[in-house]
Amino acid sequence: YDDRDGFIWMDGKLVEWRTANVHILTHALHYASAVFEGERCYNGRIFKSTEHSERLLKSGQLLDMPIPWTAAQIDAAKEQVLQANGLTDAYVRALAWRGAGEEMGVASLGNPVRLAIACWTWGAYYGDAKFKGAKLDISKWKRPSPETIPCEAKASGLYMICTMSKHAAMAKGCSDAMMFDYRGYVAEATGANIFFVKNGEVHTPAPDCILNGITRQTVIGMLRDMQVKVHERQIEAHELEGFEQCWLTGTAAEVTPVGQIGTWTFEVGDLTRRVATEYEKLVRA
Ligand code: PMP
Repeated sequence: YDDRDGFIWMDGKLVEWRTANVHILTHALHYASAVFEGERCYNGRIFKSTEHSERLLKSGQLLDMPIPWTAAQIDAAKEQVLQANGLTDAYVRALAWRGAGEEMGVASLGNPVRLAIACWTWGAYYGDAKFKGAKLDISKWKRPSPETIPCEAKASGLYMICTMSKHAAMAKGCSDAMMFDYRGYVAEATGANIFFVKNGEVHTPAPDCILNGITRQTVIGMLRDMQVKVHERQIEAHELEGFEQCWLTGTAAEVTPVGQIGTWTFEVGDLTRRVATEYEKLVRA
């Protein structure tokens, strides 16, 4: 991804894509002091741009790395970088990190918090699984307790668990992995939240140790508008047996049906299709 034309917004300036570099003694590279956002722009409008900017700022606060920009400035920077790259339908990646500076050790207070925003075209996250239903592995890695790390932060450090889970899933021919949490309850996929359907009602993990996705919250709102009952609760492994439908939500994943998790199977049913269609309409509205 480094050798291409285009521009990346870095600390207030547009720089050429190929020269958007950092020093090897960047704190974040060594200690994972980074937070990020993934967003999608549809027809020239970033879906819930300000919510994403605000979550980025909150993630920075939670990890003790205050980002020296306001949500409005970040929103404007995203517009600027999209325009510079001539993109109206794209994925937008904002990344804030502790740079190189006075210190090179665990502490980083003397190192600047930097911000970069890149964008590129990115189609369906799960390819044709979007229509057929994705096949998910079950990860051996568990989402950590909120006493271990602030789970509501979209923190780069948390993604090592996801990368290991996703590699293991891909080795088995799966599109992704579902992770359980530290207590054994259903948690989320490596870059998306999870929903289940049973008897016309929807069940999804309570966001007490998972990322409370912006897409997740959007879809819950849509379901409630459709008069569908949504239960946000702790879901046990044995319950997967009784669920009829399943889908994932995320900015990149959008609404992707799931056909299989381990040996459990699900149908790509009417409610799944309806939610996917309504979400597509909403983001382009
Ligand atoms: N969980 C994880 C681990 C994720 O990486 C993502 C993607 N940001 C989500 C859930 C979904 O979040 P959102 O809907 O805000 O993109």
